[in-house]
Amino acid sequence: MEPLVVVDHVNKHFGELHVLKDITTTVHKGEVVVVIGPSGSGKSTLCRAINRLETIDNGTITIDGKKLPEEGKELAKLRADVGMVFQSFNLFAHKTVLENVTLGQINVRKRSKADATKRAMELLERVGVANQASKMPSQLSGGQQQRVAIARALAMDPKVMLFDEPTSALDPEMINEVLDVMVGLAEEGMTMVVVTHEMGFARKAGQRILFMAEGEIVEEATPEEFFTNPKSPRAQDFLSKIL
Ligand code: ADP
Ligand code: MG
Repeated sequence: MEPLVVVDHVNKHFGELHVLKDITTTVHKGEVVVVIGPSGSGKSTLCRAINRLETIDNGTITIDGKKLPEEGKELAKLRADVGMVFQSFNLFAHKTVLENVTLGQINVRKRSKADATKRAMELLERVGVANQASKMPSQLSGGQQQRVAIARALAMDPKVMLFDEPTSALDPEMINEVLDVMVGLAEEGMTMVVVTHEMGFARKAGQRILFMAEGEIVEEATPEEFFTNPKSPRAQDFLSKIL
């Protein structure tokens, strides 16, 4: 398997707090890695570091063989290779749904408006919200907004998609409409890193589980191994609370 995201001995502090402790892991092309762990364990910081939304103290992160640049145009391009979907949908509030999905394509990928619109409509269709294209984000339900956020990220033709608790802010009845889109992506071979508490999704779509606690990767296993036979006491304790 070809490595796509390589995280090598990465450390990160917030002041005195050591939030990423010597993190090393590789996400391969087409792999779906599910990151789970208690609140505050560093899951979001790891995602944000992969997308360079956070700096790191030391270590390296490479995306498809390229080291993350510090800033500038190269960073914008590399960031476009890494699609990110957040818990809070983060759509541009003053742009229509369609504009949300075309802007990055036009500005970063340098597509014509017509090409960007065509691609956006295909993706909105695919996530089931094409009929909302001319609306403002606030007119959509949470589940619809999150699906637009996924379409927006996909429109950049990312090499990897990072999802940071994409369903945590949703009403229960909307969780599955978002998870279904994610399962579809996984089945099509998209490389994905997914932070989630949805254990059904982890079992169904995950190929590898990373269990984080207190800034460390404590356990790395297949979903089958992890859920039936967690090795570390911390994973056992975590699972006993959520399952
Ligand atoms: P998780 O996503 O697993 O809940 P986070 O990566 O959000 O964990 O946070 C890890 C730790 O870092 C937590 O203790 C959190 O309070 C702290 N933290 C996160 N972001 C910041 C920040 N910008 N400044 C200071 N501390 C932060
Ligand atoms: Mg988090």
